[in-house]
Amino acid sequence: MNGQSGFNRREVVVSAAAAFAAVGLGGRVVFAKSPAEADLMAKGFYKFNVGDIEVTTVFDGVWEKAHDEAFISNATVDETKAALKAAGQATDMVNIPFTVTFLKTGDRTIMFDSGTGAQLSPKAGRLAANMQLAGIDPKKIDTVIVTHFHPDHIFGLMEKGTNAQVYPEARIIVPNTEYAFWTDAGVIGKLPERRQGLAKRIQATFPTWKNVERIEDGAEVAPGIVAAAAYGHTAGHTTYVVGSGKDQLVVLADLTNVPALFARHPDWHAAFDADPQMAEASRRRVFDRVVADNTIITGYHYGMPAAGRIEKDGNGYAYVPLA
Ligand SMILES: [Zn+2]
Repeated sequence: MNGQSGFNRREVVVSAAAAFAAVGLGGRVVFAKSPAEADLMAKGFYKFNVGDIEVTTVFDGVWEKAHDEAFISNATVDETKAALKAAGQATDMVNIPFTVTFLKTGDRTIMFDSGTGAQLSPKAGRLAANMQLAGIDPKKIDTVIVTHFHPDHIFGLMEKGTNAQVYPEARIIVPNTEYAFWTDAGVIGKLPERRQGLAKRIQATFPTWKNVERIEDGAEVAPGIVAAAAYGHTAGHTTYVVGSGKDQLVVLADLTNVPALFARHPDWHAAFDADPQMAEASRRRVFDRVVADNTIITGYHYGMPAAGRIEKDGNGYAYVPLA
């Protein structure tokens, strides 16, 4: 245990056999999953406070990804299914949820990444409707802070078909390392074919937008919000540390994909990670810090409420949702 006395934990205890299979000898036989997940997905949003800041996670939907052996380079589909089962999740496919973190601080409304823009998966694209349910007016978005340039994080900035800006009045904050990678003239020829269209779309949009601000690692991008590089998933993948008084939130973005697989097994390498070794090193470094500090985190692919804490658990980590 890591000293979360008083924290409202909800735990799903699985059989010892499944636990040993999942975490290896010495693992703590506890798996965390939100019993409120289905209700919160239907509701569309979840609110909590970090110091004076109101945080809202808003659900955009899910990608029901068919299993394929290429998804995790060093785990089989059978091992993937076993890990999903151990976490109490459906095993017939990998459910990859999308959830955007919003902050209300003073009179500012800030969002981290922008959702899929209803351009990626038939079951995703609910962000605009759910923002309305959560009382977030898209016209009042002051700042969009981008973690990295994968489609599920930036297509919500671009109208389908025209590429017109969805948030033309907002500051769009982007990590310079990420921006430089994708806008390099030579990058398209170096990318796998499946990523070339993405690079072309980035090059047709961001450089033409006057409201894009490039930031370096460690920059305070808005009052109390500091960029913290966690490279590997992409060249410039960046987390953000939000502080209010003595309270902190870390926006993990894609430090891991779904926690049932990649928090539990930090050494599993997803096909989405551009540099799997670096991504794993970043994952362990940031997780060890948020475990030590007992910091609240949000995760883009963590499913609702998409907010919680990370605990050390055997050879890996466990995500313990706030609700
Ligand atoms: Zn993602």
